[in-house]
Amino acid sequence: MKVFKFGGASVKDAAGVKNIANVLKQEGCDKTVVVISAMGKMTNALEEVVNSYYHKTKEISKNLDDVKAYHEQIINELFGDKAVVTLNEIEQFYVEMTGFMMMNKSTSYNYIYDQIVSYGELISTKIVSNYLNDFGIENQWIDVREFIRTDRNYRDPKVDWHTTQANISEKLNINKLTITQGFLGATEHGLTTTLGREGSDYTAAIFAYCLNAHSVTIWKDVPGVLNADPRYFKDVTLLNQISYTEAIEMAFYGASVIHPKTLKPLENKLIPLYVRSFVDITKEGTSVSKGATLEPFVPCFIVKKNQILISISALDFSFMVEHNISDIFKLLHDFQLKVNLIQNSAISFSVCVDDNFNNFDALLKEMDQKYKVSFDKDLTLYTIRHFDENALQNIEQNKEVLLKQLNKETVQIVVK
Ligand code: ADP
Ligand code: ASP
Ligand code: MG
Repeated sequence: MKVFKFGGASVKDAAGVKNIANVLKQEGCDKTVVVISAMGKMTNALEEVVNSYYHKTKEISKNLDDVKAYHEQIINELFGDKAVVTLNEIEQFYVEMTGFMMMNKSTSYNYIYDQIVSYGELISTKIVSNYLNDFGIENQWIDVREFIRTDRNYRDPKVDWHTTQANISEKLNINKLTITQGFLGATEHGLTTTLGREGSDYTAAIFAYCLNAHSVTIWKDVPGVLNADPRYFKDVTLLNQISYTEAIEMAFYGASVIHPKTLKPLENKLIPLYVRSFVDITKEGTSVSKGATLEPFVPCFIVKKNQILISISALDFSFMVEHNISDIFKLLHDFQLKVNLIQNSAISFSVCVDDNFNNFDALLKEMDQKYKVSFDKDLTLYTIRHFDENALQNIEQNKEVLLKQLNKETVQIVVK
């Protein structure tokens, strides 16, 4: 078995879908599970739908029409006269979605988010599956929610590996090419969950793990894992091979080319991960495997934007020690802020965080009651793995450095 994953960028238009057919034809797709994300920026568009529904604003019908129009154009381009078949199937999803919005009584944002945003993947996979069948690449479309079981922690659930393994072993027909959704799972009561933004890579790893696949390939709009994000750096180098550990570190620090949760399941079963270009499939890309030395050995730069640096000290100028720090971490955990860097001195504790769930204001209100808190928003966190003097200078020049932390392999710098 092998697992392929195609992300949003690879299915952003009709040409992208046709290209998938081409990749599958060239690479072979016997005994393959293909995991696909929502098309283009449809997850963002569906987030708008969630927000307008949640806040009861009148943009909702426009937000929904945008989603429909985007898919409709792709379907028309792909299927021509036969578009109506797929349009009707997709219509069922919109009926379900609007039905949910009418009947829903829950006020939980995260629950509502998962029930609505998940349609991006359901729709994209239906379109791709139908197109491949028409194109002569016979496949089965499966609803991944019947396979990946999670807990009820909407938007950030834990996978129930035991049930997921049983579902995949018992219910998946492995002799057919399978097309399924990335990013989604379901609770024991069948309610949809999403695995966190960019989580489709993780879905690919879950299937690979449970199927003992011989490899996973994620198809990207870049030639592979580069030593820096080409959106922010001019001269980038393709990494031909890296170890799981290196990839985990890079993904953890924020290299968005691989979702951080993807690597551990693969490493545990020594399943190699290939990151390849869907634009030029003749190229080998990057291979991630056990103990592989970084090749070529160059500094790797990781950029994380929208960081908040919080400095916390006690109201009575006492030291910041274990009990304060554990209390602070509990608050960060309760409000779902993700910690990227910490530094402490006797009287002050600094922490650089992501606020993916928009809880910072609520956290601040709570913290202000117990501590003296100051913060800086809209910062950038640079991480350099295998840094040298040049690399450091490259990042630090012309920038205001607010915090810097060095160890043997890695330096992290928070700048304004
Ligand atoms: P997908 O379509 O699979 O969701 P993404 O857009 O999430 O793909 O990921 C690919 C993007 O990741 C690239 O276009 C690139 O801008 C970004 N990226 C960030 N860090 C790296 C890196 N180290 N190497 C390659 N690409 C990177
Ligand atoms: N569609 C989801 C997102 O945009 C998941 C993914 O693309 O991996 O975050
Ligand atoms: Mg993505």
